[in-house]
Amino acid sequence: MSVEAFALPLATPLETAAGRIEEREGFLFAARGGTGEATPLPGWTESLAACERALRDADEKERWSAALAACEGAPAARHAVSQACLDARARAADRPLYRELGGERECERVPVNATVGDADVEGTLSAVETAVHAGFETVKVKVGARAVAADADRLDAVRSAYPRLELRADANAAWDEAEARAFLDATSGLDLAYVEQPVPGVDALARLTSVGPVAADESVVDAGVDACLDAGVAAVVLKPMALGGLDRARDAAFAALDAGVTPVVSNTVDAAYARSGAVHLAASLPDPAPAGLATGGRFARDLVPDATPVRNGYIAVPRGNGHAIGGSAGE
Ligand SMILES: [Mg+2]
Repeated sequence: MSVEAFALPLATPLETAAGRIEEREGFLFAARGGTGEATPLPGWTESLAACERALRDADEKERWSAALAACEGAPAARHAVSQACLDARARAADRPLYRELGGERECERVPVNATVGDADVEGTLSAVETAVHAGFETVKVKVGARAVAADADRLDAVRSAYPRLELRADANAAWDEAEARAFLDATSGLDLAYVEQPVPGVDALARLTSVGPVAADESVVDAGVDACLDAGVAAVVLKPMALGGLDRARDAAFAALDAGVTPVVSNTVDAAYARSGAVHLAASLPDPAPAGLATGGRFARDLVPDATPVRNGYIAVPRGNGHAIGGSAGE
């Protein structure tokens, strides 16, 4: 049993609504032959200090159930403990993690989306071209950093150049309701799969569902997946680190599927173990939607060599038992 701290520099600092991120700090939790990652992201999860407290507490427990209970209210810590538990059980059962999670069919790879950051029309088209040439069939364009009309022009240009691309936009709650309506109206002919979190708050999201397809991301954590499903969103973005673990994220995914809503597995700029876990989560779902897991390249250095690289718009599910990386339990 152990709790091991890490700090990993990003290749390029990430600008977010909550500030600039230059490195990701977290913990590896190892117990009884399994390993899991906790990489808290304040705003989405508990603080680094609260995460460490929960993990140290969990580390003293004799049973998985008690260790998991010690992490209630600390979703990143619970993610690490539940991933370690699933990993240990999968290795003992001689099967991959996605099977231990309940995946019922063989899955060799999951589709992922490319993410294109804020840029002018020319820069946006250039970034989309790079993604398409790399084999991505789904592209998510970040919006909300410039005027609504300018963002709509960017999406219009991308759609004109790539008529068959699956196209998503993500505003990270940057707009008020009037701006969100204006964007949805301006892009109504562009066949966008959805606009992710155009506004903060699930009530405003619910009012926008009649204007165009919207997805919940931040609201899934703030308000809970059930409230987002009740709001009538087209898709829910599921970040296992923020939801308290792969098991809870999978429950949320099936609640969405039961409601006819698309679950999209994503992550909170997690390191190699948690990214592998999220790939297994997507692999455990029937016909997974393109996932937000093409983020390994953000790291200048990682805990282990990237076990989930993107090839042609897909990530191959790591082969082997458990999450199949990192070399614990003799793998
Ligand atoms: Mg988002």
